[in-house]
Amino acid sequence: MADIIYTYGGSAYLNITNACPCRCKFCIRNNGDSVGEATTLWFDKHSPTIEEIKNAIDGFDFGKYNNSVILCGYGEPTCALDNLIEACKYMKSKGIFIRLNTNGLSDLINKRETAKEICEVIDSVSISLNAPTAEKYNEITQPSFGEKAFDAMLGFAKECKEFGIQTKLTVVDVISEEDIEDCKKLCEEIGIPLRVREYSAD
Ligand code: SF4
Repeated sequence: MADIIYTYGGSAYLNITNACPCRCKFCIRNNGDSVGEATTLWFDKHSPTIEEIKNAIDGFDFGKYNNSVILCGYGEPTCALDNLIEACKYMKSKGIFIRLNTNGLSDLINKRETAKEICEVIDSVSISLNAPTAEKYNEITQPSFGEKAFDAMLGFAKECKEFGIQTKLTVVDVISEEDIEDCKKLCEEIGIPLRVREYSAD
């Protein structure tokens, strides 16, 4: 079984699925089987059950990590929405601060509106903007949903902001300076802060 909880750069991460509808050109999964202190993050037979996730939560000392966790990889967490919601409720009951790192495509993945139920169980969300236009987004993110993905991602981000949780959009600095500037303008227009992440191959 792959690591359900792993640590990297002084933070704790929860890995609940390897599924993802995208093939981002910069995806860290292209570079290896794990990051940070993890052994492997690829689940060989099946994604973890909620019981396995809860057991991992019970066996981990979040106190060493500011009592906080980041839901992130090795896949898109909202592909396992039921387990995500249940695991977050369980961690909330333990007072753990929860950030979700997501591609923002949950509504398309789950074929319904999902921002409200997700925002009710997390504290903070970081959504991959990746590019300033739908065309450039599709080029770099390669979502299985085609052209509608960019607008769906932006709509999800706006809803998260409206539901009152800490909301950020992110780009990785593998795109051009000009595109980063255009992303900044877009984020200013919609009133959501942008974080420019440094690309890391490990
Ligand atoms: S959305 Fe995340 S997990 Fe999916 S391909 Fe892109 S970087 Fe990788």
